[in-house]
Amino acid sequence: MKKRYAVIVGARPNFVKAAPLFHRVKEYPDLAFTLIHTGQHFDHNMSKIFFDQMGIPKPDIQMELPEGLPSEKLGKLFSNLKAVIHSGEYDGVIVFGDINSTLAGALAATTGGLRLIHIESGLRSHDRRMPEELNRVITDHLSDLLCVTEQSGFDNLAAEGVDPQKMQLVGNIMVESIEIFRDTFDQSAILETLKVSPNEYVVATVHRVENTTDSAILKKLLGVLSEVAKQYPVIFPLHPGTKNYITEHGLGELLEPLRVVDPVGYLDFMKLVMEAKGVVTDSGGLQEETSHLGIPCCTLRDNTERPITLLLGSNKLFPIADVESAAVLTHLERTDFVPGAIPFWDGEVSKRILDLL
Ligand code: UDP
Repeated sequence: MKKRYAVIVGARPNFVKAAPLFHRVKEYPDLAFTLIHTGQHFDHNMSKIFFDQMGIPKPDIQMELPEGLPSEKLGKLFSNLKAVIHSGEYDGVIVFGDINSTLAGALAATTGGLRLIHIESGLRSHDRRMPEELNRVITDHLSDLLCVTEQSGFDNLAAEGVDPQKMQLVGNIMVESIEIFRDTFDQSAILETLKVSPNEYVVATVHRVENTTDSAILKKLLGVLSEVAKQYPVIFPLHPGTKNYITEHGLGELLEPLRVVDPVGYLDFMKLVMEAKGVVTDSGGLQEETSHLGIPCCTLRDNTERPITLLLGSNKLFPIADVESAAVLTHLERTDFVPGAIPFWDGEVSKRILDLL
């Protein structure tokens, strides 16, 4: 009898994490996946382009993003997911990362008595003002199999009293995506399109709630990017949520020194990152991708849930309250980071996970 899992994805970081599982599941005849897209990200450049470029199958079930306040949306995501996964067809549910669809999926699985697998367990910023942190903590405590990316994940879960039997260090599945698609990054013509040369520009991304909802913080952050732009062209693929906040706060003028582009697909994005002088970001995934690639990453946050990236040195925190652009530029100039140095961050992560299923 095949084991059938509902695989729940909702937003861009989930797609990059799901791709390797779908590539490899073909080698496991006893496993069957039903892909459910909750509709959290729906723009072409935030969603469909990842399915097309990364060979992720078309979702078996495509939901519409519910309307309403964030809390109402979360409630509706939960009830929508419950309606489809409590059908008696599934042996378990797989969720990724820390987005609202992750938490909604975890609640739906648990209320239906279904085995819950969380990929990217145990990460903690220890800052419960972050919506992502709440999503991580609750999902982990509901999960039956916790797939951990780095040692800190084990330590955090153990400190919270999670049964060690449930945890497995499997590595970082986003890194496996890099390894699967690395050979295709050179097909991207993004550098030519943007008229930039390798090692002579910086990539920036910003989308965390704590950096975008407060006008003063967002202003300071865009000011830092403008200072960096005096030295290097700053390519800024603008997240739709951040774009809305910039408009709402009347900060559009601060974008002028930057090379603002729409969010780009995975292949163009990774080509941009691989050839960049460095990255300035508040993204979780990008801290990890740059660490694997040995590229300097300046993280505009007070903390990170991915401390292994700090240990390696390629990632450095710059809390917005006292960030100085000169220090950011100094970090971007570094060239001494070793790629591929983190244990289990390799091309075998999906195999470790599927073997456990
Ligand atoms: N990404 C992309 N195009 C972009 C920005 C990001 O392909 O314009 C990819 C990149 O691989 C990144 C992933 O999407 O690691 C998830 O990004 P995001 O920063 O949105 O999410 P987070 O990791 O912060 O949850």
